[in-house]
Amino acid sequence: MDMPGLEAGLRALDGRPYPAYRDLRGRYAMGVATLDILHVQPDPFAPASRLRVVVPLEGTGLSGEPLSPASRLASEDFLARGVESWLRERPEVGSIVRIDPSVQQMLRRSALTIDGGRLSLLLDAQLPARGRRIEGPRAAEALARGLPRMIRETLLAGSYDASALRAHRAASEDHASLLGIVEERGWVAFLADGSRLARRSGEEDTPLEAGAVPLIAPEELAAEIVLPHAGRTRGTAIRRGVTLLCGGGFHGKSTLLRALAVGIYPHIPGDGRERIAADPTACMVRAEDGRAVTGVDLRPFLRCLPDGSDPAAFTTRNASGATSQAAAIIEAIGSGCRTLLIDEDTSATNFLLRDPWMGRLLRPEQEPIIPLLSRLREIHERLGVSTVLVVGGSGEAFRVADRAIVMDAYRPRDASARVAELRGEMGQGEAPPETSWPSRHRTLLLRATGPEDRRVRSLGPRRVTCGRSEIDLSASHALVHASQGRTLAMILESWIAEGPREIRLPEGAVQAAERIAREGPGAFSRHQRGDLAEVRAQEIAMMANRMRITKVDG
Ligand code: ADP
Ligand code: MG
Repeated sequence: MDMPGLEAGLRALDGRPYPAYRDLRGRYAMGVATLDILHVQPDPFAPASRLRVVVPLEGTGLSGEPLSPASRLASEDFLARGVESWLRERPEVGSIVRIDPSVQQMLRRSALTIDGGRLSLLLDAQLPARGRRIEGPRAAEALARGLPRMIRETLLAGSYDASALRAHRAASEDHASLLGIVEERGWVAFLADGSRLARRSGEEDTPLEAGAVPLIAPEELAAEIVLPHAGRTRGTAIRRGVTLLCGGGFHGKSTLLRALAVGIYPHIPGDGRERIAADPTACMVRAEDGRAVTGVDLRPFLRCLPDGSDPAAFTTRNASGATSQAAAIIEAIGSGCRTLLIDEDTSATNFLLRDPWMGRLLRPEQEPIIPLLSRLREIHERLGVSTVLVVGGSGEAFRVADRAIVMDAYRPRDASARVAELRGEMGQGEAPPETSWPSRHRTLLLRATGPEDRRVRSLGPRRVTCGRSEIDLSASHALVHASQGRTLAMILESWIAEGPREIRLPEGAVQAAERIAREGPGAFSRHQRGDLAEVRAQEIAMMANRMRITKVDG
């Protein structure tokens, strides 16, 4: 069948009951491309129909040179954006056919993939209806006429802006190279001079234009590197160890920390964060009171509990601010995180530090929490895990800092020497009790109690529901796309589909992430769908750790 055939078929269906659309399933030739109608929705309100378009790479002009992984990612992302904006500008097609929306980061997504000499596009289609009757001419206009035009004008050689594609690839390749440099030099992150971190608003991830202050490295923290496309680049190098970001309120500390959290991804040209790279295992950790914790060894942070329960296998359905954050740190380290990103704004104060005056009021056994600050050096020196900590409210952190950066009206200044001086005046802090750090391995038993629990859904990038309980992943700033939330839900669904299941952490999470890296974001989906995206092992483990239907095994 070809496009004229599809068009005739759709026009003939006009006015028929909606389920008759089902006859359309199948393959259609579309010039050099093919269209597969994979799934047809049974009624207008059911989840959308799904389409796949396959174009041989020769037709796209991309077959010439072999693509590096970074360049392939950029090409996929670039072309998907082209399709997205084409659809946005043509409502006669765009109101029916949809592609997974893009974000400021370049992510591997199932919407558009280049592999094995061909380009595959997975689209949704909301097949048009009048009431419950087929609207044949509109469907014909969008699918049989619109799609071939869309492909000609967005994907075929000569249709897209080749120099913009080169810039997209350069951003991605420079970022990949920067990740390598960060790793090689033993840094936590690098932020090129001129980077613009501020965002337009709390809900818009596009760059702030008016009044944005570009980042410039203070001399003491500056490093120069060479990138394949941007060439010699000066910027701020954050070395491994304990780094404080200090400064008054509203001076840009949290903005900088969030830029580090997404520095694991390449950003599109013009974003302002293109030449920022951070340790790819970096995790934001915060207080999440109310969350469930299952069998986590919290002894480094917890002495004893008022109810007599065991801090070596801490389990609760309702954690406090401090215990939730302590668990998040142990879990993050267990999941392979080598850089903790912590903001005082979202931390439990009594977990960060203990004030000497409070120490005089409470007997040691009345306060079970061993504060994080007293462990940060150990976390670095014994476990090799660095920390970037935002603090504005207390100087206690000076005791443990390798360096301090003061944010002053959005401009970083090195304050390491001054902080070292003050540390001399502060004298020794109270040493924390000896502890043994827990093994990074843990086995969770996921037990769905009934079919209800096996219904897994995602609500946005950072929320997955499992039956009636919710898994809140909002602590992770590395989840930037709703398609990542859907991928997490698919992984979880595959875990609990066949009854009780043991998940060994971090191995189970690492394997799932590796499978996605190998097979693509659709690896865990039973159907081909265009609304999935890559996720890291850290977020997969994070989800497992926050489930409410787990038990710990052994
Ligand atoms: P802090 O954590 O120090 O209180 P924030 O990072 O929350 O400060 O930033 C405060 C405000 O300043 C935010 O509205 C943010 O968008 C804006 N901002 C941050 N960095 C910059 C910058 N480099 N240029 C302009 N505005 C900025
Ligand atoms: Mg802040």
